[in-house]
Amino acid sequence: MKTARKTVVISEFIDASAVESLKSHFDVHADPALVDQPERLRELLRDADALIVRNRTQVTASLLDGAPKLVAVGRLGVGLDNIDLDACRARDVQVFPATGANARAVAEYVIATSLMLLRGAYLSSAAVANGQWPRTALSNGREVAGSTLAVIGFGGIGQLVAQLARGLGMRVVAFDPQLPADAACWHETGAQRMSFDDALRAADAVTLHVPLIDSTRNLLGAAQLSLLKTHAVVINTSRGGVVDESALADALKQGRIGGAALDVFADEPLKAASPLADAPHLILTPHIAGLTMQANERVSTLVAARVTQALLEGERDPAIAQGAST
Ligand code: NAD
Repeated sequence: MKTARKTVVISEFIDASAVESLKSHFDVHADPALVDQPERLRELLRDADALIVRNRTQVTASLLDGAPKLVAVGRLGVGLDNIDLDACRARDVQVFPATGANARAVAEYVIATSLMLLRGAYLSSAAVANGQWPRTALSNGREVAGSTLAVIGFGGIGQLVAQLARGLGMRVVAFDPQLPADAACWHETGAQRMSFDDALRAADAVTLHVPLIDSTRNLLGAAQLSLLKTHAVVINTSRGGVVDESALADALKQGRIGGAALDVFADEPLKAASPLADAPHLILTPHIAGLTMQANERVSTLVAARVTQALLEGERDPAIAQGAST
């Protein structure tokens, strides 16, 4: 007897080709508006075998309780802070992130913003178009070659950033308490392992690539910012909450650091009343470091494939679908 087709619910944006590929095996409800329609999402999940999300859908214990058939959650990205992993584990729901698929996009963002902030010369379009000629003011930017990049969190993205930075002639130092001194990545990337404080003191640019967990909340606060050189720039593409936004705004306003680029915020979207709103030498982007045409396609294809595999294996052997969660 033919078994009923399984159901996949997708609550945020996904590449169209990945939806088509899922549709060849499953019934698919893909609607990026679902993330803002919690009642409709809950209704669809009552019968769903898999849920695919980006970073806005909160996969809580309560949401999972309303989805008794769910065996897989696909995450169109890397950070898992919007997914209650313990609750998934307790319910034998496997979680599939798109590990590595958007690393290149993030790494290029870090390099681009490092170049922009250290040179400080690319925001003069309006002045030049108005007939001003701020040549003297913009003559003193820094080259990245020979500058030191401190990478905080030396996982997949941190290591790729290090490789690109080394290609530009930067010296790379890195801090990651979970990587032993003899880990292969140190000599593979040419990065120098350092303590957190020493890496901050050495840096012309600091880039953060840690997960948001208890030990990384406000990792870069007033005390740590005070260790930076006055021209040093800070780039955060990891998660809001890792950088203390008020302390960073103060440091920028008081000229205690050279600049910053933030792609992620404690509260997204950023509120107009944020202390960052009128801070100078600051590049703000709306959580897009990992989003490019190519990364979107890679992320969607990878997650669709992993969810498909989990559901099809579960059909062949129901015990497999109840396997280890990640
Ligand atoms: P990863 O798991 O490969 O690496 C994270 C590293 O952080 C690990 O090596 C871990 O040992 C280290 N770490 C943990 N606690 C630390 C601490 N207290 N101090 C220093 N290092 C610590 O993760 P990844 O794929 O490199 O992603 C890094 C971050 O980037 C994640 O937070 C992810 O959510 C974020 N991200 C953001 C975007 C975006 O669009 N802005 C896109 C992709 C990933």
